[in-house]
Amino acid sequence: RVVAIRGNSSSTHAFSVSINKFEDSIYIVSFTDISETMLENIKLEEKTLRDTLTNAYNREFFENNYRKLIENYKTEDKLFALVMIDIDNFKNINDTYGHDIGDDILINLVSKIEKSLRNDDVLIRWGGEEFIIILKISSKNALEFVLEKLRNIIENSKFKNLPKVTCSFGGTLYENDENITETIKRADMALYTAKDNGKNRIEIRLG
Ligand code: GH3
Ligand code: MG
Ligand code: MG
Repeated sequence: RVVAIRGNSSSTHAFSVSINKFEDSIYIVSFTDISETMLENIKLEEKTLRDTLTNAYNREFFENNYRKLIENYKTEDKLFALVMIDIDNFKNINDTYGHDIGDDILINLVSKIEKSLRNDDVLIRWGGEEFIIILKISSKNALEFVLEKLRNIIENSKFKNLPKVTCSFGGTLYENDENITETIKRADMALYTAKDNGKNRIEIRLG
């Protein structure tokens, strides 16, 4: 097993512990400091779990972590909200200004959204110009409030030397014991509704 021990300098070290029987009722307990390798592993894992262009989390991160988040929020009596975000008319932007400008917008947008979210919220690049946000939330109204605020922040953001963008949002709440694909499907349907109803808006669809 691995244990963490805080040292005098208040830095935490990870030790692998092994226990061997020496004689009757005498054991040898040895601690091997494995902090360096463990840290490297965590960093390596962090790297493979992030999108290379925007540094947002990727799908693999989502796959590895959504169950934990659902369980955590349940024990805290909070709801797990899943929100699908899609940039409006992004193909036009690429066609008008070029793909590099499109890339710059993606990078700036991610950084803007991350600054606007709370510590507990997670932003994932789902693919292309689509993102998922997972939020720990107390009610549908709270979700609406947060998303409307975020939509507004994006609409009013001026990224240096870049054209303006807006996003559409489709939000939902995780239903007890459902398969996560159902949650994603609902968020996706809400997003379609937001696009149909004129884009640059939020829609929420519950199960
Ligand atoms: P809508 O408002 O309905 O979402 O229209 P849209 O043009 O945003 O949607 P569409 O799905 O037609 O186009 C998405 C575009 O996003 C097309 C693709 O070239 C662009 N895109 C996807 N990934 C990237 C990327 O990594 N960089 C850049 N620059 N563009 C990307
Ligand atoms: Mg899209
Ligand atoms: Mg789009």
